[in-house]
Amino acid sequence: MTPAIRTHELTKRYGSRTAVHSLDLTIEPGTVFGLIGPNGAGKTTTLRMLLDIIRPTSGTAMVLGKVPDEGGPALRRRIGFVPGELRLEGRVRGRTLLAHYAEISGPVAPGAIDDLADRLGVDLSRQVRTLSKGNKQKLGLVQAFMHRPELLVLDEPTSGLDPLVQREFLGMVREARANGQTVLLSSHVLSEIQQAADQVAVLNEGRIVAEGPVASLRLGRIRRIRATLDGVAPDSLRDELERLPGLRDIHLADGEAVRLSATVDGDIDPLVKTLARFHVVDLAVEEPDLEESVLQLYGSERGEEVLRGR
Ligand code: ATP
Repeated sequence: MTPAIRTHELTKRYGSRTAVHSLDLTIEPGTVFGLIGPNGAGKTTTLRMLLDIIRPTSGTAMVLGKVPDEGGPALRRRIGFVPGELRLEGRVRGRTLLAHYAEISGPVAPGAIDDLADRLGVDLSRQVRTLSKGNKQKLGLVQAFMHRPELLVLDEPTSGLDPLVQREFLGMVREARANGQTVLLSSHVLSEIQQAADQVAVLNEGRIVAEGPVASLRLGRIRRIRATLDGVAPDSLRDELERLPGLRDIHLADGEAVRLSATVDGDIDPLVKTLARFHVVDLAVEEPDLEESVLQLYGSERGEEVLRGR
């Protein structure tokens, strides 16, 4: 089957700075592909080249079997796009704006716009300029999904959305995949990629530093935990914690209560059972940020090199 997207040595330079460096990507149709990387990694630049908003310095891209700068409006109609920095005409109502986009994008099924707007919770009768950033972003999502394009290219699509709306959005992505649509999603939020994507490429300084099925990257097993405990002697707690498998970076601070922070790699249950024997005043379990996961992927020394581009 022809890939939905294929790039070969795709490169974009700005003066002496290489924003995207010799990128080889293959995205199979009907899959959700996540592009993750820290700020400045080259995600937006890559997506813009695929949409022919900017032209590559060298290398090639094929999108839905076409070269982006030869595809013209016919190719654009087959793609739904949410840009990273969404700018919308502000002096019209949401409904008018979407009707205008529908004229360009091609047929939109009756009721599709209202269904999507209801799901995301955006009021289409309001003037666009009176909407909050998050509500504008919802309009951006509606315009990308409404004509059921073969390919969705979404640049940081959930920025500014609250968690409930983010969940709804992930549902929309899963449905798109079930319809046979292909989704390319960029994010610096790991959890989003983990929940939505089949395949992932980790981008850093314009290069892919890791790629594969989401599960194979094992990004999901690491957690940062912080706890405040009462009625516990720090030394004996430390002894117990050090015996737990997969627990590292243990810090204990003694004060009125004992404050613990640590990293759990793997099963969290033994730690929870240990803490449960004390009075737990506070507990926070957090996903690692991208940097920590990259460090984990590569080991700390190589990970540092990857992150700092050495
Ligand atoms: P972010 O999440 O911060 O948007 P990103 O992964 O999308 O990051 P890009 O916006 O693609 O990163 O930027 C990649 C690199 O290219 C950055 O170093 C950026 O400064 C540089 N860059 C992007 N656009 C331009 C431009 N028009 N002129 C010069 N440099 C640019």
